[in-house]
This record gives sequence, structure tokens and C-alpha cells, in this order.
Amino acid sequence: MARKTLLVTGASSGIGAATAVMAAEDHDLALHYNSNAAGADETAAAARAKGARVTIHRADLSDPSSVPALFASIDQEHGHLDKLVNNAGVVDQAQPVTAFTPARVMRMVSINLSSPILVAGEAARRMSSGGAIVNVSSAAARFGSPGQYADYAATKGGLEVFSKGLAQELAPQGIRVTAIRPGIIATPIHGKGGDAERVDRLAPSIPMRRAGSAEEVARAILWLLSDQASYVTDTVLDVSGGR
Ligand code: NAP
Repeated sequence: MARKTLLVTGASSGIGAATAVMAAEDHDLALHYNSNAAGADETAAAARAKGARVTIHRADLSDPSSVPALFASIDQEHGHLDKLVNNAGVVDQAQPVTAFTPARVMRMVSINLSSPILVAGEAARRMSSGGAIVNVSSAAARFGSPGQYADYAATKGGLEVFSKGLAQELAPQGIRVTAIRPGIIATPIHGKGGDAERVDRLAPSIPMRRAGSAEEVARAILWLLSDQASYVTDTVLDVSGGR
């Protein structure tokens, strides 16, 4: 069977990297990254070892105007797309809302919401024979993340509402749109937000008494992308150990 072409944003690390490597079994890949070129190269090497044709594309999604250039570069290499995992995202230092700065909130909204909306639109335009989009939300959209990053939670809530609208809009064209809500997952994101101990600290409070792995989230994403989920659209899947 012909390989489908999948774009994974934020494929240089964590959930995006795990998803890309797993998808390489039966997809060709456009891998996006921003700062971690070595991570993107590592993901690409693991994916190529599974037989995938892999290209790498850099874009800083804190500037939503970088999205058209990202797709111009994907067009040059692939010409079309079948699937998207809209995964790139950031947290920030744990702070109360009263301490937030305009720079912090604008960066958060750009990377986690504005750019993913534009990425989904550009991807959908290239899905000429149906397709699948998985937007990576967070359990934070259910909790609100008070005292930590309520701005992050708000961007993920926004992404879920966007997923709903997009799913309804694209269903007649055979493009399925879903969202996934990881809980506490052991990836570098917590350290980048200045709290590397967060996973170990919160693990005992999770009903399953442990953090999830990037691979456990990737498996759920791969199912949502696959024909096994052919009648699944406009839904949000929690992958959060019961949290
Ligand atoms: P991660 O390991 O830190 O990976 C984040 C990815 O996003 C990296 O590939 C990074 O690229 C990319 N990224 C960050 N800033 C960017 C920017 N300015 N422009 C473009 N790309 C940028 O984190 P992760 O845990 O795998 O997170 C992946 C997704 O899962 C995120 O949307 C996150 O909100 C969500 N999530 C994670 C958890 C968790 O507990 N880990 C829970 C719920 C939801 P570079 O490194 O190349 O810059």
C-alpha cells in the first residue's frame, strides 16, 4: 500500500519525536522543529531506519507569519499531505496570572494556538483525497492550571474548540479532525518550563500512580490517524492515567 505523507510539528523531542518514529513504519514524514536541530536529526535517522522518506523543516512558531514559509518548504519536498499531528507546544514558568507579562502570554498564544490554527488550515488545503488531523491539547484544558500556567491551559482549551469547528468544517471532505489530551507525560517540556521535578512530584497523585511515556501518547495518536479510526472525528481522547 502507498505510504501516506504525515507532517509532525515539534518532532525534535518528546511526544512529537515518538509519534514520528512510530509513524515511520508506514508513513513518509515531514518533520518540523525550531531550535533542536540535533533532536530533529535523531528523529529523522530513526524514521529512515524504518524505511520512511523523511524531510526536515525549521520554523519558529512563536511567529505565526512563519507558517506559510514552512509549507512552501514542505511543498517543494512532498507536493501534498495526507495527515498532520499539530504537536509543537510550550509551557512557561509556574506563575500566578497576576505575574504574567505581555511577552509571556503572546508567545504562549502564538506557539500553542495561533500557529496551530494556521498550520491546520495550510495542511487541510493540501489534503486533496481526505486526511486526518490530530491536535495535541492537554489535560490542562480540563483543570485550568491555576497558579502554574493558566495561559497554557487557555491555549489548549482554545485548540479544542478550534478542533471542533475544524472537524465539522472538514468532515464532508473526508478529513477527520480529533484532539488528544495527554496528562503528565515524562518529556523534556517540564524542565524547559523550569520544573524538571514536576513529573516525579505529581506521579503519586495520578490514579495510575505514574507518569505516562511519550510512546503511550504516540500510540493513541497513531490510532486516531489510522483507518482503524475511520468513523472518529470531532472528539477529544484523554491519555492521562485516569487524571
Ligand atoms: P517537548 O519535548 O518540549 O517538545 C516540544 C516540541 O515543540 C519540540 O519539538 C519543540 O521544538 C517544539 N517547539 C517549542 N517551541 C517552539 C517554537 N517556538 N516554534 C516551533 N516549535 C516549537 O514537549 P512534549 O511534552 O513532547 O510536548 C508536545 C506537546 O504535548 C505540546 O503541545 C504539549 O503542550 C503537549 N502536552 C505535553 C504534556 C506533557 O506532560 N509532556 C502534557 C499535555 C500536553 P524545538 O525543541 O526544536 O525548539
